[in-house]
Amino acid sequence: MSDFDLYRPSEEHGMLRASVRSLVEAKIAPFAAAVDEEARFPQEALEALVANDLHAVHVPEEFGGAGADALATVIVIEEVARACVSSSLIPAVNKLGSLPVMLAGSAELKQRYLRPLARGEAMFSYCLSEPEAGSDAAGMRTRAVRDGDHWVLDGVKRWITNAGVSEFYTVMAVTDPEARSRGISAFVVEKSDPGVSFGAPERKLGIKGSPTREVYFDGVRIPAERMIGAEGTGFATAMRTLDHTRVTIAAQALGVAQGAFDYAKGYVRERRQFGRPVADFQGVQFMLADMAMKIEAARQLTYAAAAKSERGDGDLTFQGAAAKCFASDVAMEVTTDAVQLLGGYGYTRDYPVERMMRDAKITQIYEGTNQVQRVVMARNLP
Ligand SMILES: Cc1cc2nc3c(=O)[nH]c(=O)nc-3n(C[C@H](O)[C@H](O)[C@H](O)COP(=O)(O)OP(=O)(O)OC[C@H]3O[C@@H](n4cnc5c(N)ncnc54)[C@H](O)[C@@H]3O)c2cc1C
Repeated sequence: MSDFDLYRPSEEHGMLRASVRSLVEAKIAPFAAAVDEEARFPQEALEALVANDLHAVHVPEEFGGAGADALATVIVIEEVARACVSSSLIPAVNKLGSLPVMLAGSAELKQRYLRPLARGEAMFSYCLSEPEAGSDAAGMRTRAVRDGDHWVLDGVKRWITNAGVSEFYTVMAVTDPEARSRGISAFVVEKSDPGVSFGAPERKLGIKGSPTREVYFDGVRIPAERMIGAEGTGFATAMRTLDHTRVTIAAQALGVAQGAFDYAKGYVRERRQFGRPVADFQGVQFMLADMAMKIEAARQLTYAAAAKSERGDGDLTFQGAAAKCFASDVAMEVTTDAVQLLGGYGYTRDYPVERMMRDAKITQIYEGTNQVQRVVMARNLP
């Protein structure tokens, strides 16, 4: 089998895309503008995704999940992001938050936390970033101190997606301050653990429907069994997680680019100037051709990275960073061009491309900025 065959979507992947698209068009797209305008959590999207078992498709069947492969997960996120990037953070961050447990957690942790996630009863967030530790995540200050058969956590995490909505939080904390990245451990913290609280929602440029808040840990005492993997392995687990989940950010980028392209293509065929549809002008046709070309390149890179994620290939670190970096740059270019193609109308909130352009920007920033993706690629050159 050629490498291409390994990542070509199967017939099942095609059927999945068609069914997700029709669900999204019926139950998620109609609320996307209001979710943005009101900066509110996309509850309708959560309910539709849970009802159709699409909120955390990556959870294996043995824990009650759909057991979707990495490419199927990408297709779900891509299709949701095509209409509403905020809503696509539900399946994406459920994977981000829970993957450390799947990759490194004990059998007991998997049973305890993956099952409610699969049932749609609880969401999962991922707490790595801090006010003083963004790109340099290993410079974190949140501390976990052993106390008998418990750990006690103190510190602040910033920019935590779905904070306050999620029941479960994977939290990276320093257990040995002398050892820098090798002195960081990962834990599962529950929203109801005494000492956990949340900051005010950040007022953002885009993905306004996705709550982003600080999470505070004030003497949070948790049983030692909540540590994910061995002491000192938390940072490695956090980075291994990002290798896989950067592919899902690429999927979001791909989806929003596709959504903006589809809208702009339809618009220019309707909009008439100089007595004809503006789509008749070669200057417009060349823009559409470039947009479609870039989207297709991003799709191929993203799906190839998804196949590598599924197989656990050794070059996933490079490929995941490349897919995220490339697809998010494409998303920014394509959504900006879509605004351009709608002229003045594109610059208003009466049309969705303005929101898509604002939403696309985050894909160049989170799970490591695109400069950091280039650092990662340069350190892991093929
Ligand atoms: C909406 C949103 C949601 C998020 N969700 C989460 C989440 O759920 N969980 C979580 O843990 N984090 C989350 N983040 C945090 C996100 O991953 C960080 O914002 C990101 O990693 C950048 O960190 P920073 O903001 O501190 O920027 P900084 O690290 O301060 O970077 C500032 C600038 O310096 C550049 N820079 C830094 N280091 C280098 C370098 N070595 N080489 C070249 N340039 C460099 C950066 O690219 C950037 O342009 C989220 C952020 C946002 C905005």
